[in-house]
Amino acid sequence: MARFEPKASPLTEPFWDATRDKKLLVQWCPDCDAGVYWPRVHCPRCLGGDLGWKEASGRGSVYSFSVMHVAGNPMMADRVPYVIGLVDLDEGVRIATNIVGCEPAAVRVAMAVAVTWETMSDGRNLPLFEPA
Ligand SMILES: [Zn+2]
Repeated sequence: MARFEPKASPLTEPFWDATRDKKLLVQWCPDCDAGVYWPRVHCPRCLGGDLGWKEASGRGSVYSFSVMHVAGNPMMADRVPYVIGLVDLDEGVRIATNIVGCEPAAVRVAMAVAVTWETMSDGRNLPLFEPA
């Protein structure tokens, strides 16, 4: 079964378009010079409404994770066990993702990770993370 594929919205379209070139974008607030993730209309720190986009390095570390031994979604049933993780990007935002490229038992909090990509059916790429 194919993986669940997030749909783009007018707000998230720049993010998803960039994934076609395997570029990871985060919103950036010029008013408080900070990253924003997930995409929104206003900055959650200062409520500034002039958010732009900035390419992220794709590097970060594991903030937290959980190993799924029973799929939370039937589309993920053939992938168990798999890791759902929260990754703190070097740009200062936290992204929910999957940690791949290693055994689930090898994942550790604070482990250095880098983005890797899983191509979706429409040519967009889903950002996942693997040990760096
Ligand atoms: Zn701001």
